Amino acid sequence: MSKHHPLLQSFGALMVLDADSRRIQAVSSNFAALLGLIVTEEGDQTLSGLLGKRLSQRVRRELQGQQRLPGPLTFSRPFNATRFQLHAYRAGAYVVIEIEPLNPLGKRRLLGTVNERLMHLAEATHQEELLDNLVTAVQELTGHDRVSICHFDSDWHGLIVAEARGGRLAPLLGQRFPASDFPLALRRAYERHPVRLIQDVSGPTERLIPDDCSVALNDSFLRAPASEQSHYLQRLGVRGALSIAMQGDSGLWGLLFCHSAMPHPVTPSVRDAVRTLVQMATQRLLLLRARQEARYLQRVQDSLVLSTNARFEPQSPHQLLFEQADTWMALFRAHGVALWLKGSIYQSGNTPTPEAISQLIMRLEKAHVHSGPWCTRDVTKEPLTASLAMPEQCGVLAVPLPMSSAQRGWLVFFRPEQVETLYWAMQPATAHQPGMMASPSAAWYEEVIGKSEAWQRVERLAAMDLGEDLTLAISAYEISTLNMHLERERKALAEANQRLEQLAHFDPLTQVWNRYRIEQAIDAELVAAKRYGAAFALLLFDVDHFKQINDTYGHSLGDDVLVSLARLVESSLRGCDNLGRWGGEEFVVLATHSDLEAAVGLAERLRSLVATLHVNGLEQLITVSIGVAIWRPGDSCKSLMARADAAMYRAKRSGRNRIEIAVEQMQ
Ligand code: GH3
Ligand code: MG
Ligand code: MG
Repeated sequence: MSKHHPLLQSFGALMVLDADSRRIQAVSSNFAALLGLIVTEEGDQTLSGLLGKRLSQRVRRELQGQQRLPGPLTFSRPFNATRFQLHAYRAGAYVVIEIEPLNPLGKRRLLGTVNERLMHLAEATHQEELLDNLVTAVQELTGHDRVSICHFDSDWHGLIVAEARGGRLAPLLGQRFPASDFPLALRRAYERHPVRLIQDVSGPTERLIPDDCSVALNDSFLRAPASEQSHYLQRLGVRGALSIAMQGDSGLWGLLFCHSAMPHPVTPSVRDAVRTLVQMATQRLLLLRARQEARYLQRVQDSLVLSTNARFEPQSPHQLLFEQADTWMALFRAHGVALWLKGSIYQSGNTPTPEAISQLIMRLEKAHVHSGPWCTRDVTKEPLTASLAMPEQCGVLAVPLPMSSAQRGWLVFFRPEQVETLYWAMQPATAHQPGMMASPSAAWYEEVIGKSEAWQRVERLAAMDLGEDLTLAISAYEISTLNMHLERERKALAEANQRLEQLAHFDPLTQVWNRYRIEQAIDAELVAAKRYGAAFALLLFDVDHFKQINDTYGHSLGDDVLVSLARLVESSLRGCDNLGRWGGEEFVVLATHSDLEAAVGLAERLRSLVATLHVNGLEQLITVSIGVAIWRPGDSCKSLMARADAAMYRAKRSGRNRIEIAVEQMQ
């Protein structure tokens, strides 16, 4: 009949009330004895009748609209001077009240010890130190034979990571408990009730009276262990147990177990103290882990940023990999790294062949479209890599680099096999696998082969960070090389322009202005003269008997004569005067700010200067005939040149090697 009710432990008593918290529906078989009460079987007893009006009113008030009392209530029974602690919660249409006697001494003494322990925990700077401090503190508080911390991995297998031992039980440190030991229902129960006390696995148990009450007592703190659980603990040699959940930021981080070979009572105040210590330690643990992760992420980021900042010019992807590969491999515990960019592969350390890497990238491009990293620790079992030739590789972590929307780059890390021996405290569900052995001490161990170390969450995060930084660095490099090309092209263009300008404005033989350019200069001077009335002069000169020089010495020497002549004349001119080749062996001098007298002086000076010219291979003097024309209002380039030309011909006719002034200006 009582089958659907779990049996109850006898260190406390329990009563079941109606939803109103008034009428008593059932009590545990030890209720009367524990509280020193007489409970009649009439079934009409009330809470206030048993525990007094004040207490029952308080329970009702505090439970109103609540699932459970926010904290325990205490009360005492005057006639036996014992203090009790009371918990109440709702179970379906019932209210369940659990009562435990309180240790008369101790709470104040305990507080000092707990505070001291808390300070100690707060000073721990490493996870190991923190957990060691915690198990030691808890062991001292509760006096259990063994206090262990079991941490869950991502598959919910538990690993004992810290332990304090004071007695008869065998050590569990470093051993594993299979995920099957921690089914979802159990983990959920720990989330609702972080503390579970089993005072004596095989101790006396209590029943509910009457046993036909339909209340569900699964959530009861006093509930005795189910028979499988008893067997489980007995196999571990445990009779007294206390376990406390360590709640991480994404589910259960682990459990703290206290085990004793003998029955082990723990008072409510010690339990509270342990619970506080565990909570504080868990907080501290999460903080330390967050700090450690932040430091790691920073180091990964620094590896690239520092190196690229230290440089004046952006580095090529090849240089980057070459310089950073060792650092990155150390940070990511990898033995090889490859960078794939637009079909080019850069590799360092122990990597698969370029062909295998290319195939891997092609598959990733198809199968892994999102922007996060992709990883495996078992390339031969992973469908994406199973058929690729990757000897010596077990782990791959690949990060896409969003270089452009069309094509991504990839940064890929490779890890070797990491043979691992797992020691199982309990036989895992996978025990039939080959490689599982039972050791003489009945612990199980397993060789895990063909796998690399697992890629941890923080490593995947760091890889993503690195991928982003790398993308930036490579883009910076691409932009700078693009700029370099542009700059080169810009220079080439400027040079071409310059050459073009040279061709357009200068005479290729003598390098003085050509006819087009000197005409431009004359036009500009005409505009200025018209506006300001500033007179200027044109001197047109022609080499005398040049045809004969060509005929006698050859055309090439004739060229030399023209070059030497132009150079000589140009070098003797003022900065504001200009020389241009008018055509053949005819040249024009544009003399600004010149009146007739100045122009004649210049012409005469040039004529006699030319007569001193010596050209190699030429055994005769060069002479020129010069026509001089001065600007007059109304002049155009054409009219001015025509006057100079006429004057020049007059000089020829008058015997050459002389100057003539335009006729109209002679008076
Ligand atoms: P004059 O004293 O009357 O000016 O006699 P000239 O022989 O100088 O007269 P003409 O104008 O008949 O001859 C000019 C010659 O100059 C003809 C042409 O072959 C030569 N000539 C024109 N341009 C060049 C050139 O660039 N290089 C050379 N070597 N000769 C040139
Ligand atoms: Mg001529
Ligand atoms: Mg001539």
